Amino acid sequence: MKKNSQTSNANRNSLVILGGGESGVGAAILGKQKGYDVFVSDKGKIKGKYKKVLINNEIDWEELQHTEAKILMADVVVKSPGIPDTVPLVVQLKRKGILVISEIEFAAQFTNAALVGITGSNGKTTTALLTHHLLKDELNVGLAGNIGDSFALQVAEAKFDNYVLELSSFQLDGIIDFKPHIAVITNLSEDHLDRYEYQYEKYIASKFRITKNQTASDYLIYDADDIEIEKYLKTHPVQATLLPFSLTKKIKKGVCLDDNNIKLTINNETFIMPIQNIVLQGKHNVKNAMAAATVANLLKIRKATIRESLSDFQGVEHRLERVLKIQNVQYINDSKATNVNAVFYALDSMNSPTVWIVGGVDKGNDYADLLPLVHEKVRAIICLGAGNEKIKNVFNGTVEVLTEAQSMQEAVKMAYMLAEKGDNVLLSPACASFDLFENYEDRGRQFKNAVRKL
Ligand code: ADP
Repeated sequence: MKKNSQTSNANRNSLVILGGGESGVGAAILGKQKGYDVFVSDKGKIKGKYKKVLINNEIDWEELQHTEAKILMADVVVKSPGIPDTVPLVVQLKRKGILVISEIEFAAQFTNAALVGITGSNGKTTTALLTHHLLKDELNVGLAGNIGDSFALQVAEAKFDNYVLELSSFQLDGIIDFKPHIAVITNLSEDHLDRYEYQYEKYIASKFRITKNQTASDYLIYDADDIEIEKYLKTHPVQATLLPFSLTKKIKKGVCLDDNNIKLTINNETFIMPIQNIVLQGKHNVKNAMAAATVANLLKIRKATIRESLSDFQGVEHRLERVLKIQNVQYINDSKATNVNAVFYALDSMNSPTVWIVGGVDKGNDYADLLPLVHEKVRAIICLGAGNEKIKNVFNGTVEVLTEAQSMQEAVKMAYMLAEKGDNVLLSPACASFDLFENYEDRGRQFKNAVRKL
């Protein structure tokens, strides 16, 4: 398929979309606009709002089944990132030599916009939103990927000159020619290994696919403190120009700390920003700010704008979100912390004794990395969820109180009793939420509601 290609009506290419969610329906609209014969197939139920869009746009669809005869006739298949490559239908498609790609790959063919792709294990959403915030005053820039309207829909309808894309490893698995001008890898830690045959190297290689089509005139911004990233780059050189960021090293070309400033050096030019101007708390957010400021600098955003935008970005819901202060106790919602690494940075950023609410569906966590921080910062642990035994075994004896709750309301009430003036109460679960909650947003909202009721 060529860039901006339009197929004639007489001989329309057939596009099958597996998965009728945000990205699938966006790809369907873009495909239809570009002259494809489009069919959307979802083995589950398609949400009402998406059905309406498909019907209004006269796009053929089915739910609760995959009609193989129709799907196996496709010229190209766009697969939702939620569907593993190992499901029999996808295996069959590939065996037949049918192109199976992600929505990101599909949409990128139809835009000449400058693309900023942001991936990593933690910090993608925060860094993508912050980057967009830094760019939006001076550039015509869209925000897509895992956030908001799909990339494909925006390419079809909004036509931005630049896009900031939050990219999961699953979306990157389905790229062929996708080439971001600027790629960011925030960090790496074990996640989603069930989709990578439990091999960490495969997950890392998937993240690095973001650099696969980049050339020397493109950029890779990455965390130089991350051992896995450094290790990978040593053995797998990339074409892109490297711009590392670091909290610990002195960096000549890239970003590092200089006293209490972020110091950015690109093309022999230096740009200094005081850390205290960044509203976001925690070392991890200094890193996210380093990455976002580098992107903004590369895209020629004025320094004054970058400084100002860094100082008025208020953060993202469910990520170290300050909820309320009650009787001088600060309640913090970090429900999006679904792995140990995210909790590490949350605890690290606590500057007073903390009552920590943790637990949920354990994803094979190794909590040992948290022991020194828990010893130093945590007054009490409240376990909430299915994976409590493991948490109890690791932290028993490390804290004054270790207890269990059956609901968010009970956990918050316990925290209220246990916290002393000046303490923090932190919900930072390290686990998935599907035992007691619909998703992490539901868990975070229940936490906030329970706090407001105190
Ligand atoms: P993602 O989109 O990659 O899941 P988010 O921005 O939603 O990342 O943040 C997820 C969790 O990780 C939150 O608890 C957040 O506080 C934490 N976090 C954010 N940035 C980083 C980072 N650079 N390193 C480690 N943890 C981070």
